[in-house]
Amino acid sequence: MSGSGFATKARQVRSAPFLEKCYRYERADLAREAGLYTFFRPIESAQDPEVTICGRRMVMLGSNNYLGLVNDSRVKEAAIQAIRKYGSGCAGSRWLNGTLDLHVRLEQRLAEFVRKEAALVFSTGFQVNLGVISSLVGKGDVAYLDKQDHACIIDGARLSFGRVRKFGHNDADDLRRMMKLDGAETKGRFIVIDGVYSMEGDIAPLPEVVAAARQFDATVMVDDAHGIGVLGRTGRGTAEHFGLEDEVDLIMGTFSKSMASIGGFVAGDTKVIDFIRHNARTMIFSAAQPPASAAAALAAVDIIEREPERRERLWENTRFFTEGLRSLGFDTGRSQSPVVPIVVGEDATALTMAKRMHDEGIFVNCVLTPGTAPGRALIRTSLMATHERGHLARALDAFRTVGREMGLIP
Ligand code: PMP
Repeated sequence: MSGSGFATKARQVRSAPFLEKCYRYERADLAREAGLYTFFRPIESAQDPEVTICGRRMVMLGSNNYLGLVNDSRVKEAAIQAIRKYGSGCAGSRWLNGTLDLHVRLEQRLAEFVRKEAALVFSTGFQVNLGVISSLVGKGDVAYLDKQDHACIIDGARLSFGRVRKFGHNDADDLRRMMKLDGAETKGRFIVIDGVYSMEGDIAPLPEVVAAARQFDATVMVDDAHGIGVLGRTGRGTAEHFGLEDEVDLIMGTFSKSMASIGGFVAGDTKVIDFIRHNARTMIFSAAQPPASAAAALAAVDIIEREPERRERLWENTRFFTEGLRSLGFDTGRSQSPVVPIVVGEDATALTMAKRMHDEGIFVNCVLTPGTAPGRALIRTSLMATHERGHLARALDAFRTVGREMGLIP
């Protein structure tokens, strides 16, 4: 068949009614045509405070590498040694052939770190929430989720056989009202919240949520993807921040942020973790986290414990940058953490601002609906311990230029 014949055949197949939605989908094309598309930008270097894109150095203000450990020589060396010893993959699920002594060591280390009896490591944080929530919530149970919970919490609850209820963001009274409404026929109640919300960087009102949970005998799980390594006196996250480690039944974390790797974990009582181990489908039917990623996460926990000065620098940078943005007149939303949004309102404004910041040499993330509530599109920035004042001052200068040009600030 000639090349052009192939193309015609492919077109015919693709025009089947089922795929029509793809051909009609034009949101991304419109942004591309307007020259405002800043998604999937290929980066040619490590996630450092500066990155290279198209050969040009830019200040990176859009990475979750909060403690700056992704390019740390000790973490990288641990990953390299693990590849030398175990190879590049595990060739199977944890359940059968994929569990390494390295995974077991990492689990013991994490359990000790978050002060729980046991922990279980999955290949991604997304898989933790899918597997844990769908295996625990059964028929007759209700999962209570904050409206702004991460997508994988919502998907995990949807995969379960229980009912899903979403309460108002950070609104423990609304949560209480829903639990009361559900009444005595409810079998089990499972509350799942983020510790730090990933888009606006606000911290969950954990004391109020825990108090509501106790009143209704509910179990509490905290997704601390953005809290581990960042919050708490020793970096143990949101529960430590509030002194409520014993009150939170399950703590979930991911390795893709402060912990400089990929993978995730859940920690809790030994019996609960053992149940999840044998029932979470994302554990049983998906291949194990690769050796290099496990070793990198293990090295990162040690550094998080031994080098509190990283967390201190992260918070100094956070204060400096957030105050800088606020004094320029930007709306930084509800931020209380190294995740700092600039709320701009309309999707088109966020697209333009992200592109203009890119032109100015600053990498920021553009967050549109449905990532945010309608009319609350934002530019998401996030700090690293390794940012220097020069990086942040350059970024603030660019924000001033672009903000004025767009009429967002005086
Ligand atoms: N929970 C939250 C709050 C997150 O922000 C993310 C990732 N962005 C995840 C879970 C999923 O983690 P991972 O990237 O490890 O799949």
